Amino acid sequence: SAQIIDGKALSRHLRRRFRERVGALAAHGVQPGLAVILVGDNPASRLYVANKVKACEECGVASFLHACSADITEAALLGLIARLNAERTVHGVLVQLPLPPHIDMRRVLEAIAVEKDVDGFHLYNVGGLVVGNTIFPPCTPYGVQLLLETTGIEVAGKNVVVVGASNIVGKPMALMLLHKEATVTVCHAKTRDLAQHTILADILIVAAGKPGLIVAQMVKHGAIVIDVGINRLPDGRIVGDVDFDGVRDKASWISPVPGGVGPMTVTMLIENTLRSAERCLERGSGSGHPVWDAPRSEL
Ligand code: NAD
Repeated sequence: SAQIIDGKALSRHLRRRFRERVGALAAHGVQPGLAVILVGDNPASRLYVANKVKACEECGVASFLHACSADITEAALLGLIARLNAERTVHGVLVQLPLPPHIDMRRVLEAIAVEKDVDGFHLYNVGGLVVGNTIFPPCTPYGVQLLLETTGIEVAGKNVVVVGASNIVGKPMALMLLHKEATVTVCHAKTRDLAQHTILADILIVAAGKPGLIVAQMVKHGAIVIDVGINRLPDGRIVGDVDFDGVRDKASWISPVPGGVGPMTVTMLIENTLRSAERCLERGSGSGHPVWDAPRSEL
């Protein structure tokens, strides 16, 4: 039976190390700060935002929650982002998705200063991912990458199959593993005969949002299986996209839901926020290597 990839334990370990980095920044008079913008009262979004704020507290990162009503105008939202871009105590600006339909999500994401784009959704950071030198990798695939590293298995040359091709998980995940020299296949809702692809995977990463999508017959013996899915069943249980009990007998490693990718996503958000604060400090002292052409007054 497969070994468990424990996202909770890895998160705990990383967050302990974050507190040391926060201490080092404090010695320079800097406290990392994350601004979180929540629009409307989507219950799932509220929960995600609460988890992010809690993780900030746990790590010594200041959090600034801006809860806006669902009918906020796009102009007002852009104005808020402009203020946060210019605010020295804020090193990361995050807009919780989804946004209400009257707001142009792309315009909002593009308004975030690239050097504070800790979610990594600004086109500049997305482009950086394509050429392999992004400063802020998107948090969920970044977390998956660290989970994979804990298995000690080399990614280069492996067959990786990513099920799901969204902008926030599947596509960036595929790019990150391509840069690690894996042979990457991306499957999605229009893929014909999904099993024909998944059965070849040495590493199978599933982010479709479909409970029970991946069953044991679709998995190669000894594969590493990472389940990104988060689905709430009618009975209230939270499950992933993988039939955990069936697949664990076939896989060599498997990540559970909950306790796998979920905690890592929030942990990588803190990592990105710390990195932003560290970069800001380096730049301020003239010893860093400025990558972005952001005006200094913004930092
Ligand atoms: P999405 O709905 O934006 O994208 C889903 C993708 O899966 C699409 O590319 C779609 O074509 C594909 N897909 C759907 N049904 C399929 C099928 N039957 N076969 C193959 N592909 C199929 O979703 P998303 O935002 O990428 O999220 C995916 C899942 O991951 C959701 O369950 C979501 O809750 C979860 N998620 C978890 C975290 C985390 O921190 N663990 C973060 C983000 C998303």
